[in-house]
Amino acid sequence: MSRILAFAVTASLAFSEPYNTFDGPGHPTCNDVAGVYDPSTAANTSTPCDTMCSDDPSTIIIRTENVNQIANFSLEPSAEDGSVVIEAGVTFFQLADYLHQRNASIGYALVSWNITLAASVAMGAHRSSLRQDSMVASGALEVHIIDGSGNIRVVKRDENDDQWLAASTSLGLLGVIARMKFKIYLDFKVYADQKILAENDVLNGDIYGLIFPYATANFWCQQGFQSTFSVTKTEADTALGLLNAGANSSFFNSLAETTFFSLWSFPNFREKTNNLPLITCLVLKRIREAFDYELEVNGKQMTSTYRSGINIKFGKPYFDLLGQVTYGTADGADWSKGAMMFDFPTFRPTVGDGKRFNEPFYPMLATTLVNEFPCRPHWTKNIRGVFEQSKKNIDPDHLARFKVVKDDFDS
Ligand SMILES: Cc1cc2nc3c(=O)[nH]c(=O)nc-3n(C[C@H](O)[C@H](O)[C@H](O)COP(=O)(O)OP(=O)(O)OC[C@H]3O[C@@H](n4cnc5c(N)ncnc54)[C@H](O)[C@@H]3O)c2cc1C
Repeated sequence: MSRILAFAVTASLAFSEPYNTFDGPGHPTCNDVAGVYDPSTAANTSTPCDTMCSDDPSTIIIRTENVNQIANFSLEPSAEDGSVVIEAGVTFFQLADYLHQRNASIGYALVSWNITLAASVAMGAHRSSLRQDSMVASGALEVHIIDGSGNIRVVKRDENDDQWLAASTSLGLLGVIARMKFKIYLDFKVYADQKILAENDVLNGDIYGLIFPYATANFWCQQGFQSTFSVTKTEADTALGLLNAGANSSFFNSLAETTFFSLWSFPNFREKTNNLPLITCLVLKRIREAFDYELEVNGKQMTSTYRSGINIKFGKPYFDLLGQVTYGTADGADWSKGAMMFDFPTFRPTVGDGKRFNEPFYPMLATTLVNEFPCRPHWTKNIRGVFEQSKKNIDPDHLARFKVVKDDFDS
């Protein structure tokens, strides 16, 4: 997908080698691109480019990192809310800093991490909540998109307008989001808590009742933990060695899990005393079945080998055409209480054939869930094989309406 963009290109770099993700060499985001450009602001010029590689080696990547101005702050002390305008490369951290200095926040739409709000809106990113709007896009008031002809099109929030419903989760297919007008609020404090639940209380409990009362809440399973941390090079090398040893051994995977779990301390520490608490929910019971099968029949224990363990998130219903928590689908599935997101990141060994210890398990689990439940893609986290399978679970009318808007923006 290449398009004419209205970004002023201030520096360009010819690329004949892989363009890596943040993880560095060995983790290419693009194997073959024609160039990487670093625009510094959105303006009128004609440069064919995209924000992510496609299969076309003539694609030119634009890095939005330096397009990061924040302007038009508006929030009266007595007002319920206000707004601010942010450019494509503004990250959550940048915006949080900027707003904090002005006694403001973007409320519950914050996902955190060093990722951009524009890409989060494009990909339908969300945090975990059944009570508050969970989509990052729910905070967007206007999305300014550079269409296929290089024009900036301002799409304003309007639930009755298919342009808005497509722009709300566009996957970048309408064009690059150059800037957004975002809703802001007076700053407020939240308190954090963690509870260890007995497996039985969770398995046979009321999952909606457990999650709904909180502004944000999720479940962490197995010896799961979420840590925001920095490590030294030596620590990182040791961890890498341990994780790579786990490519052929569940012993090393379990050792890594236990070691990381005991090394990182409160408040990043997420204690779990049970092996795998599961919720009274068919999807999760099915996953539990698959886990048990992997051990009993294939003799391979499942462990969580990535930083965050297994994370189960929840999303309040929010209507747009391709969003993860949308509703009103022709399959008749009941989304009225929201959607559940099973997030199981794993470490892919950087040695040998790069295959994980339980390699066949992961695609098998995805196929099982997609075929047995109305599972839709988690756009930010799945891989192409999963998208291809789960496409059948996206409402055909939503897809058709999206395509009309897409063709209008980028023929
Ligand atoms: C540690 C971590 C935790 C995360 N937690 C969550 C979570 O809790 N919930 C969740 O939903 N996601 C989560 N994610 C996923 C994250 O939300 C997405 O990967 C997000 O899209 C990353 O933004 P980025 O700026 O790195 O975008 P990139 O990875 O650079 O781009 C992602 C996609 O967006 C497109 N894109 C980028 N910029 C634009 C633009 N300006 N206009 C149009 N399209 C654009 C790209 O072409 C690409 O397809 C997490 C990611 C990480 C690394």
